Amino acid sequence: MVGKKIALRMLLLSIVVALVACNPDQDATPVKAQTQPAPHDTATSSLPKLSLPPDSGPPPTIDSTRALQYAKDIVAFGPRPIGTANHKKVEDFITSHLKSDAVEDDVFTADTPEGKFPVRNIIAKFPGTRDGIIVIASHYDTNYPLRNTSYVGANDGASSSALLLEMANQLRGKKRNGYSVWLVWDDAEEAMKPESELPFEKDSLYGIRHLADKWQEDGTLTKIKAFLLADMIGDADLNIDRDRNSTPWLEEVVYQAASRLGYQSHFFARDNQVTDDHIPFMQKGVPCADLIDFDYGYNNVFWHTPQDTFDKLSAKSLEIVGSTILETVAILDKMDALPPK
Ligand SMILES: [Zn+2]
Repeated sequence: MVGKKIALRMLLLSIVVALVACNPDQDATPVKAQTQPAPHDTATSSLPKLSLPPDSGPPPTIDSTRALQYAKDIVAFGPRPIGTANHKKVEDFITSHLKSDAVEDDVFTADTPEGKFPVRNIIAKFPGTRDGIIVIASHYDTNYPLRNTSYVGANDGASSSALLLEMANQLRGKKRNGYSVWLVWDDAEEAMKPESELPFEKDSLYGIRHLADKWQEDGTLTKIKAFLLADMIGDADLNIDRDRNSTPWLEEVVYQAASRLGYQSHFFARDNQVTDDHIPFMQKGVPCADLIDFDYGYNNVFWHTPQDTFDKLSAKSLEIVGSTILETVAILDKMDALPPK
């Protein structure tokens, strides 16, 4: 996760903090409760009319214990910023679990404020019977400015990359009765410089921007029906944000998928506006949904710190997000023509 535009939430926080400061008798604990400005329905009024298929087939399967073990394995390599031996080990770890799959590499050299670095996006393709592609993405690098700390990005990068490996296990070995699904482990997502020196909008998303451009040039982009992003989804205290930089109708499908599985209470109680890997695809007109919990520890205190450690993750959170993403895909598979962005 590279950064976010601070929306209504921080404003409300400061108001609440001010209120608490004015009233010493007030319990400070309501602060969190009062940062929730967006009940689910408020953002859906301008949606195109969605015709969702009935809830038929069995719910998707995720082996969350195995997914959590993958996260533990990735974290065990240590910090994995681009250009390091640890990064290469994680590349090898990912591809070693995709040996029987159709894997494509998107390798290039990124010109960054810290110099030139090799970048590698890894794509595993699972074919379907329906014309079109659904992309599910996660970045796997860790933040470069934190490279000399113990920062391992257990939640920020490892949790979602592990979840995609488990999704591959579920997708492998059978032609999908629906769209093709492409899993993307994208690289060089994190900023190279601290944001105090360079805004993250100008210094991040190197890998996914390259891939979006490449797929625009070779015509792949026109086949992509939806881009689903997972980021910071392993937090044991799981609350996925509604992201106002994502496509409203696709977020609504995600919410309906979560509801069908009984997981809706983990989704969209909070509003946000996130700059993340989906932005280059949004800018090119692809419907996108960023599934991110940008409240990692109280007031996001663990984000981009050495406290982003494996003990904060839970298998249940991986199960909730993994199942919801696969259920979203299953709904998209059965929908008539999907709306544009
Ligand atoms: Zn990050």
